[in-house]
Amino acid sequence: MHELLSAASADAYVDAMRGTVDRVATRFRTTTQPFSGASREHLQALVDAVDLDGPGHGTATALREVDELFAQHAVWFHDPAYAAHLNCPVAVPAVAAEAVLAAINPSVDTYDQSTVGTLMERRLVAWTAGRIGFPAGGGVFTSGGTQSNLQALLVAREHALATTPGADLRDLVVLATASSHFSVQKSARLLGLAPDAVRLVPVDERGRMRPEALAIALRHVERDGRHAMAVVATAGTTDRGCVDPLARVADVCDAADVWLHVDAAYGCGLLVSRTRRHLLDGIERARSVTVDFHKAFFQPVSSSALVVRHAADLRLVAHHADYLNPEHEDEPNQVDVSLQTTRRFDALKLWVTLRALGADRIGELVDATIDLAAAVHREVQDDPDLRLLARSDLSTVLFRYQPDGLPDAQADALVGQVRRVLFDSGRALVARTSLDGRPALKLTLLNPATTLDDVRHVLDLVKQAASALVEGDDLLATAVAR
Ligand SMILES: *Cc1c(COP(=O)(O)O)cnc(C)c1O
Repeated sequence: MHELLSAASADAYVDAMRGTVDRVATRFRTTTQPFSGASREHLQALVDAVDLDGPGHGTATALREVDELFAQHAVWFHDPAYAAHLNCPVAVPAVAAEAVLAAINPSVDTYDQSTVGTLMERRLVAWTAGRIGFPAGGGVFTSGGTQSNLQALLVAREHALATTPGADLRDLVVLATASSHFSVQKSARLLGLAPDAVRLVPVDERGRMRPEALAIALRHVERDGRHAMAVVATAGTTDRGCVDPLARVADVCDAADVWLHVDAAYGCGLLVSRTRRHLLDGIERARSVTVDFHKAFFQPVSSSALVVRHAADLRLVAHHADYLNPEHEDEPNQVDVSLQTTRRFDALKLWVTLRALGADRIGELVDATIDLAAAVHREVQDDPDLRLLARSDLSTVLFRYQPDGLPDAQADALVGQVRRVLFDSGRALVARTSLDGRPALKLTLLNPATTLDDVRHVLDLVKQAASALVEGDDLLATAVAR
């Protein structure tokens, strides 16, 4: 049985890992752009050509194939010209920890499957709770911000139903903003709330929740005979990277006795920032907080957590199974507080990263990305061909190509075209979104090693592609990008 990892296959394991590590390292040394630029038709043909029913070819051959098929055409988040979505380059110690996880393969659902791993995860949850300002906090690692938000709203729903006499599921309302993550809407549907359960609170010119508008919205909920189950504030909106005024939102929530959830999936890096921790002031007054370590702490996907102010709140939705986690057992079974059963020990990666780098160093790296974004904002603002469309508290840049005289409609249309031309070339990856209905290009700068010159290069590619498209020369646009 040399196929399965055991004492007998330890040598084969070493060979497989060494070979793999060497090949991946070679990719990192030689890759010069974020994507190969291969067409989807070409990639589809490569994938379709693989025979999944045939005989095995051995580990070495299969792994070489992965290098050519997958690694060669993967998207490389560490490349300085990758600036599209909320993906960070990963910390080396975390990648090594991922290999440890895969080999030992614990499941942190019950103590008897993970022992010290359970204790390490709980320690890290307590560490995160401490950084937030929840001395009696609890929590659990999850697969991502989407699941963390879902679980937060599940707990808030149970809390509302348990504490409001006569409250009905269909009466419950969640207050968020148009800048909130779409997982809030999705969660409301999954939780069986009414189709109109999510109400959008008006925002200021930067897309941040307006506390006085929240107070009015809460009065309207009451007037309509509904019940406010939770307010979702965002610490780092996905597009603008803006942080809602948490302390003032908390004032309103406290006065109305409403559950405050803070979605800090993006902004959680501020927890270790040396210079900007104050942006999160008031987060300690939330009842629950979402953090995504795979967005802000240089962790490989997946690594996220839901943290609550009162550890006991998570027990509102505990289930007990005789075979797994019987009631009244004194073992620390994390399945009691998780939506998942079998679950990865993702916490190990953050643990190793904290031990290797130290929290202050991670904070410096986070700050470097925000400093870079501020410099890029100035650059874009000073460029006559570009328009800066929004300010950010974090590290996004919303802009578009629009020299004087270029009509809005044409600038609108260019946004998607430019993104596509750059993507097809593989040389620079940028995102597109819309801001108050206006199409915008978006850079998300999560790489502390990226320099201002690197971003200037991306902006140059944007301008060259856009001006060629304006000239009506699609071929030139594509050629420029190549
Ligand atoms: C990315 C994001 C999420 C979703 O997190 P995933 O880890 O992708 O599931 C939730 N909220 C905000 C504000 C985000 O930016």
